[in-house]
Amino acid sequence: MTDFTKGAAWMGGEILPIDEAKISVIDWGLTHSDITYDVVPVWAGGFFRLDDYLARFRQSIEALRLDIPQSDADIAQILHDIVARAGLRDSYVSMSAARGVPLIPGSRDPRECGNHFYAFCVPYIHVIKPEAADRGARLWISKSSRRIPEDSVNPRAKNYHWGDFTTGLFEAKDNGFDTTALLDHAGNVTEGPGFNVFALKGDTVVTSDHGVLHGITRKTMIEMCRARGLTVETRALPLSELLDADEVFLSTSGGGAVPVSRVDERIFGNDAPGPVASALRADYFELMRDPAYRTEISY
Ligand code: PLP
Repeated sequence: MTDFTKGAAWMGGEILPIDEAKISVIDWGLTHSDITYDVVPVWAGGFFRLDDYLARFRQSIEALRLDIPQSDADIAQILHDIVARAGLRDSYVSMSAARGVPLIPGSRDPRECGNHFYAFCVPYIHVIKPEAADRGARLWISKSSRRIPEDSVNPRAKNYHWGDFTTGLFEAKDNGFDTTALLDHAGNVTEGPGFNVFALKGDTVVTSDHGVLHGITRKTMIEMCRARGLTVETRALPLSELLDADEVFLSTSGGGAVPVSRVDERIFGNDAPGPVASALRADYFELMRDPAYRTEISY
């Protein structure tokens, strides 16, 4: 019997076990990172904010001038079918649109490639390990790598241009930190590999509005902060302001709201998650079970 326990993929109209899903070595998605993707979480048997993720994926496709035949309804059906086939109740569900293989061998014209869609699901991935989130994540500000400028690669079209993050992650791990966040060339905090960054001072929460992916969890976080009576400012976040914050936290579809207890040498609170970040973390997991935001899966 076919084993879907590690996940399932949809490629070219077929559902395959995750290990059997492959793309061509000459696909520009691989050779030029000419690809966009999105990741929607499935929690307790339902998609969370599926329409928001589908809308962002469509915007990314348009920003990169990709052309795929699947409608949003087709994509929703495919995502549903792979998760149901894999039987996953908590899942990381990824959808991609790639430039594809040149239709005329050797062509260097991006208009002459066979764009294509594929998707896969695997068991839920925590971008920050739950143990680290529980004790407070340790965030390293990369010293050697700045976030790729937004007029070079558009960060709002979700992408795999992760060379800057990978450099930062090596630095973070080598220094005993959980993950990294990158500055822009003006010294403002942008984002990290898989998350947006927030600073709380008094009753005001600040998160960057430029040079970052507009995370769906960032949107949820902004709503949750306002529901708790906090003021939210989306604007440049200088590093000095992050280090001077009362609390720092991250937002990611892979784990929701993640409290930060250290940024470089700066230790927040008692080297433990702050009260507001902890409350937001709980709010997020509650919201993921709210029927108003969910699309249930029939297994
Ligand atoms: N920033 C980057 C670079 C990301 O890759 C991600 C998610 O993977 C995020 C931010 C957070 O976005 P979301 O909340 O939609 O997961």
